[in-house]
Amino acid sequence: PDLDVEELEGVGKVTGAKLKEKGFYTVKDVAFASVKELAEIIGNEERALQIIEAARKMLGLHSFISALEVYERRKKIRRISTGVRSLDELLGGGIETRAVTEVVGEFGSGKTQLCHQLAVMVQLPEERGGLGAKAIYIDTENTFRPERIMQMARARGLDPDQALNNIFYARAYSSDHQMILVEHAKSIVKQHNVALIVVDSVIAHFRSEFPGRENLAERQQKLNKHVADLLRLADAYDVAVVITNQVMAQPDVFFGNPLRPAGGNILAHGATYRLWLRKSKENIRIAKIFDSPYHPEGEVSFRITEEGLID
Ligand code: ADP
Ligand code: MG
Repeated sequence: PDLDVEELEGVGKVTGAKLKEKGFYTVKDVAFASVKELAEIIGNEERALQIIEAARKMLGLHSFISALEVYERRKKIRRISTGVRSLDELLGGGIETRAVTEVVGEFGSGKTQLCHQLAVMVQLPEERGGLGAKAIYIDTENTFRPERIMQMARARGLDPDQALNNIFYARAYSSDHQMILVEHAKSIVKQHNVALIVVDSVIAHFRSEFPGRENLAERQQKLNKHVADLLRLADAYDVAVVITNQVMAQPDVFFGNPLRPAGGNILAHGATYRLWLRKSKENIRIAKIFDSPYHPEGEVSFRITEEGLID
């Protein structure tokens, strides 16, 4: 069970109430918080640091552990099948919980289709590649289509209405709203068996609200917080987070790939795994992992059909 934040040394009723008001209900929430955000709530950086340290200590997260322990912890990571065998193999068994997987690609490369499919796949029982769990879907481009979920659910033998019922959906109207929705997501994750959070796309609002170089610093600062919030949520609650990202043209590249992921360093450092999708002929798409801490580089292809993504 999650320990109440008031169990922490140095947190009484008053501080406890302030923290809960901002969404920090448990020791775990505090352990994964940043000093800055906690200091903003309790008004004192030093005390914020002490409280976070106490929370980490309580959960055994405060110092060094053996690599064997790291390995034991990694074994607890769960995986959601993409429904495409070759893509699962590329990913080492599917997308991981406790990680942020970024899907990058041009318009029409299949990012949104993959997000829809994962929201269905997560619902399947474990023996069929799912986690018997629900999904949260944050839609920033208004491209979520329940009809598509129903098609994919039917193709996998799930009841279409039930499949829709197992997806918590929110349309994000601005970057601020998108960030607030992640806080709401946290409370849903606590109450329901959620194993997947999709943010499609993570970058669109940020790009349109903060155009040009003069806004870049502010944009990156906000985006950094957003991705950090998502990563903490993934880590603390054992859920898989999938974000999609756009590509942009680099006018100064003459050799090699002239496209690069939008979002700059923030996304490069925030996402644990990065998957690049690109169009091939007709309904064929090619997927490739890049920047991975342990996946070999490689490419696989799949098709987008009425039934969803297939080998
Ligand atoms: P992105 O999010 O990367 O811009 P999408 O995930 O929206 O791209 O992918 C769009 C592609 O998916 C289109 O090429 C479209 O033909 C294909 N697609 C969408 N729905 C279906 C369907 N019901 N049957 C077959 N292909 C589909
Ligand atoms: Mg899309």
